[in-house]
Amino acid sequence: MGQSSDQSAKFDVIVVGGGPAGLATAIALAQDGVATALVARRIPYRDNRTTALLGASIDFLTRINVWPHCQSQAAALRTMRLVDDTGRLIRAPEVRFSSEEIGAETFGYNIENRLLMDAMERRAAELAHLARYDDTAASIEPGDSTITVTTGNGDVLTASLVAGADGRQSPCRQAAGITVKSRALDQSAVTFNVGHTRPHHNTSTEFHTQHGPCVFVPLPGERSSVVWVSTPDEAARLAQLNNEDLGLAAERQSHSILGRMVAEDGRHVFPLAIETPSAFAARRIALVGEAAHVLPPIGAQGLNMGLRDGADLADIVSRARAQTEDLGADQVLSRYATARRADVFSRTMAIDAANRSLLSDFLPAQSIRALGLHLIGSVGPLRRLAMREGLAPWWRRAG
Ligand SMILES: Cc1cc2nc3c(=O)[nH]c(=O)nc-3n(C[C@H](O)[C@H](O)[C@H](O)COP(=O)(O)OP(=O)(O)OC[C@H]3O[C@@H](n4cnc5c(N)ncnc54)[C@H](O)[C@@H]3O)c2cc1C
Repeated sequence: MGQSSDQSAKFDVIVVGGGPAGLATAIALAQDGVATALVARRIPYRDNRTTALLGASIDFLTRINVWPHCQSQAAALRTMRLVDDTGRLIRAPEVRFSSEEIGAETFGYNIENRLLMDAMERRAAELAHLARYDDTAASIEPGDSTITVTTGNGDVLTASLVAGADGRQSPCRQAAGITVKSRALDQSAVTFNVGHTRPHHNTSTEFHTQHGPCVFVPLPGERSSVVWVSTPDEAARLAQLNNEDLGLAAERQSHSILGRMVAEDGRHVFPLAIETPSAFAARRIALVGEAAHVLPPIGAQGLNMGLRDGADLADIVSRARAQTEDLGADQVLSRYATARRADVFSRTMAIDAANRSLLSDFLPAQSIRALGLHLIGSVGPLRRLAMREGLAPWWRRAG
């Protein structure tokens, strides 16, 4: 990967934003021989989130040669438990999924985002077709036949297409004229990691409380990452606790299934929201990752969807390039939108419904949720469908 210093340069695609979705997209494009610029500040990853990467994401990261750089730092996920801890009158039975039931060795792997990002940066540095601009995009101006990105340092880059992977506030989305429907949830997630005295046996356990899920996801060794969704006040209180007290609170919440817990340094609080865009692409700009969709952290879907955005965009661009099509033409953008729409909207709806049913004090909603989980837990074909669907949408598995 070249560190570019030309004041003006031409590319096939410019990727704006170097979070995990943007980096993966830039790597996939450049690996396919697409002349790609990545406009992204190279700064240390700023929070302690981990990602449960599910089946199809591992396949994609393997295909773009990132996975070999970080596999040894990830923990396999072989069993998923959902535990109703709402304490309500109507409670769902515990549901336990095992990857063996669908003939898979694992559901996926959990890895700290900063380690995943290091691996992506190392892979990006190997690619001759990837020019890195360690900078921000100061302006993004779509034109009739090209699109121009000017960086903070004054580099002027042109391309046929921009991949807007610039996160929730996305300047690219604004330049494309795409609006976003946003609903703030009265919930926040606290993230932290814990060490514990009992082994996790590669089991991820999600406790469903009245304020949201509290999830313990395995990390290598006797450690787990915790995503604890609660009211904003409670999340703020938890984040203030010292390591011992937070470990104790987590141990109580987990009913001591992992023994004694001590929290590690570092915690972050994320106010939760659901965001869906009015379009996935317009005016030579295709949106990728959280620029295109924001979900609460239930069922580990956010970045998994972001990686599918990147994989689909790279495939569509490579095919269009082989046909010598204009990569930013309306028909290419519309292929991308078609590829992403059903996946993003169906998952957003499912996660929103799951979250609402958890928070609802309405008895019929609780009954439906309990019945749904009971059916998923006890009816073999439904169980297997739910597990496979969690890993990737059915049309992707069939394809
Ligand atoms: C608590 C929590 C737990 C989660 N757990 C999971 C999980 O287990 N599994 C999962 O799949 N997902 C999970 N997610 C979701 C996942 O973390 C996000 O989907 C993912 O991090 C978003 O990555 P991104 O690259 O789209 O955006 P970001 O990481 O926000 O990256 C966007 C980048 O663009 C840059 N940028 C912005 N403007 C510009 C500009 N003008 N020029 C250049 N760069 C710019 C920003 O600086 C940033 O680096 C979780 C989310 C939360 C909140």
